[in-house]
Amino acid sequence: MSGPNTDYDPVEVTPLGAEQVDEAREAALVAIAAATDLDDLKAVRTAHTGDRSPLALANREIGALPPQARKDAGRRVGQARGAVNQALAARTAELEAAHEARALVEEAVDVTLPADRAARGGRHPITLMSEHIGDLFVAMGWEVAEGPVVEAEWLNFDALNLGPDHPARTMQDTFWTEPADHHVVLRTHTSPVQARTMLTREPPIYVICPGRVFRTDEYDATHSPMFHQVEGLVVDRGISMAHLKGTLDHFATQLFGEGITTRFRPSYFPFTEPSAEVDLVCFVCRGDEPAVSSCRTCKGEGWIEWGGCGVVNPRVLTACGVDSDVYTGFAFGMGIDRSFMFRHGAEDLRDIFEGDVRYSAAFGTEL
Ligand SMILES: [Zn+2]
Repeated sequence: MSGPNTDYDPVEVTPLGAEQVDEAREAALVAIAAATDLDDLKAVRTAHTGDRSPLALANREIGALPPQARKDAGRRVGQARGAVNQALAARTAELEAAHEARALVEEAVDVTLPADRAARGGRHPITLMSEHIGDLFVAMGWEVAEGPVVEAEWLNFDALNLGPDHPARTMQDTFWTEPADHHVVLRTHTSPVQARTMLTREPPIYVICPGRVFRTDEYDATHSPMFHQVEGLVVDRGISMAHLKGTLDHFATQLFGEGITTRFRPSYFPFTEPSAEVDLVCFVCRGDEPAVSSCRTCKGEGWIEWGGCGVVNPRVLTACGVDSDVYTGFAFGMGIDRSFMFRHGAEDLRDIFEGDVRYSAAFGTEL
């Protein structure tokens, strides 16, 4: 670095020569113009205006000049430094604006891009079927009722006239929770929801109860230890078997199509008296000759078993706090999974429960 020099001849001192100052100024201006980003410009600023830059060195020499020479040299160097600083400021502003404009483009979010490229999963066909059944009854003014799947033994059995010796209470059918003396089971049907409804509400009662139920069944094409049931219950004045038949005919037609009605066959359930099995008109052959004789779905019967039903046993009404001299009622129950298999021609119950989204998608589940 050159320092002040007492016997200094300005003409011979390189940094202060007019040509050198102009050269340094030109070099700085060219470098500034060539800087393509703010980092480049920072290096240019250090090289051309920093302590060791030609113009800074020249400026430092001015003080050592004779007074006469100092004025010219000062003006020349001052103008050069001014021009360089101005150019730096202008280029800085340009590059900052360019940086900002680029960030706006590069970091922009395109709100018009499709947002659902990833599959979001879907609702299970059984859930959709349960809701569809609920809707059919809500449209008739009924209410959807739900209850716990872990249930008191009394509500699952005793309240429904299933005495302690009834076969359904043996270990073969029922999942009992530990410890056994707490008398808590996984509900074996959705009937305890009906008992709960009668215990907590005054008639008239019109409820539909869809839900999961549990039995110690083997897992195969037609059985599962967990499956879905829907039960209906009506308690009102003057309710008869005729109301039950009309309700189930409407339900069957809504679910399986025009012309699909029901027939009753005598049966026995502890919670209804009289009781009946419900059959559907076979929705494949419709019971018509000659198709019925070769129909594999109903095996030539023209009818398909659907569920059970009956007039509510007065003992059940009494156990649930309803005056059986004033009120009568009906109840019915069927498998949702079985109804789903009928409706869609599904053949293996296990396909429904194994959670493969391709299966759900095939049944029109939204994805
Ligand atoms: Zn048939």
